[in-house]
Amino acid sequence: MSIQVTNLTKYYDTTLAVDEINFSIQKGEIVGFLGPNGAGKSTVMKILTGYLKDFEGVALINDLSIRDNRIAAQKNIGYLPEHNPLYADMYVEEYLRFNAGIYKVPKERISTLITEVGLASHVTKRIRELSKGYQQRVGIAAALLHNPDVVILDEPTTGLDPNQLVAIRSLIKNIGKDKTVLFSTHIMQEVEAVCDRVIIINKGKIVADQYLKDIQNTKQQVIVVEFDVKIEKEFIVSLPNLKEANNVFDTTWELLFSTPIDMRSTVFDFAHDNGLKILNLTRKNKNLEKLFQELTQ
Ligand code: ADP
Ligand code: MG
Repeated sequence: MSIQVTNLTKYYDTTLAVDEINFSIQKGEIVGFLGPNGAGKSTVMKILTGYLKDFEGVALINDLSIRDNRIAAQKNIGYLPEHNPLYADMYVEEYLRFNAGIYKVPKERISTLITEVGLASHVTKRIRELSKGYQQRVGIAAALLHNPDVVILDEPTTGLDPNQLVAIRSLIKNIGKDKTVLFSTHIMQEVEAVCDRVIIINKGKIVADQYLKDIQNTKQQVIVVEFDVKIEKEFIVSLPNLKEANNVFDTTWELLFSTPIDMRSTVFDFAHDNGLKILNLTRKNKNLEKLFQELTQ
């Protein structure tokens, strides 16, 4: 196991922040750690990475106890803390060299990483001159310097604009190709975009731990479809398994179907048979959204 947590509990004085949680993550998984603000995500991550030493229960990284074998366990972990603390006055390369010195990694690794995380055109800039998205790349590069197996990213996309968001998500996916990744977020769409599996935490307890493919195949689906012309609602309700149809704007409809069968081709056929053209069609996972709302209300 890359990460294994047993009966993990953390009090801050009398505040119970993490309440007897259990989970394990296998090598190579990308897991979204999803929960509202204050749920306990950062606390769990600080325990896993050895920054919070006062806790109950067991946390293992590659089978090494973070309590009993902290230094050895930390060698396996790359960590991007929440709010990404960087030295703003340092130059990008200088900062990475500084970190490389701490980890005693060869200097060549820095240039490889700079390319990997897409920082090549920004190495000569000071960190404070970079956009938030590029600052995140610096933080992620710093976390990867010692080539850890397990990467823990605490809200890596919070505060990014939509373009930066897409770029960082794809970087995370890339990292997940040969590493175990646990990253926290309070945005469930992000989990859908990036992960294989979601662990939902609420008020310090794990309330769900599921593979996305298992969530997607059950219950309901939403299809958002844009036609070339306006149509009447009476017209669209003839679609099979349709539970709700909302005209979200102009010629765009949000259709809720209660069936596990993928309804996209049915919607295509419906449009074709009725002389309509489809300009856009996407299937959304209503189930994760619902699950998250139900579990964290
Ligand atoms: P999340 O990262 O999911 O937003 P946190 O792990 O930061 O949640 O916080 C979990 C709970 O612990 C919250 O109730 C928070 O107020 C509390 N908490 C976090 N850090 C501290 C601290 N240093 N001292 C006291 N309480 C804290
Ligand atoms: Mg947090």
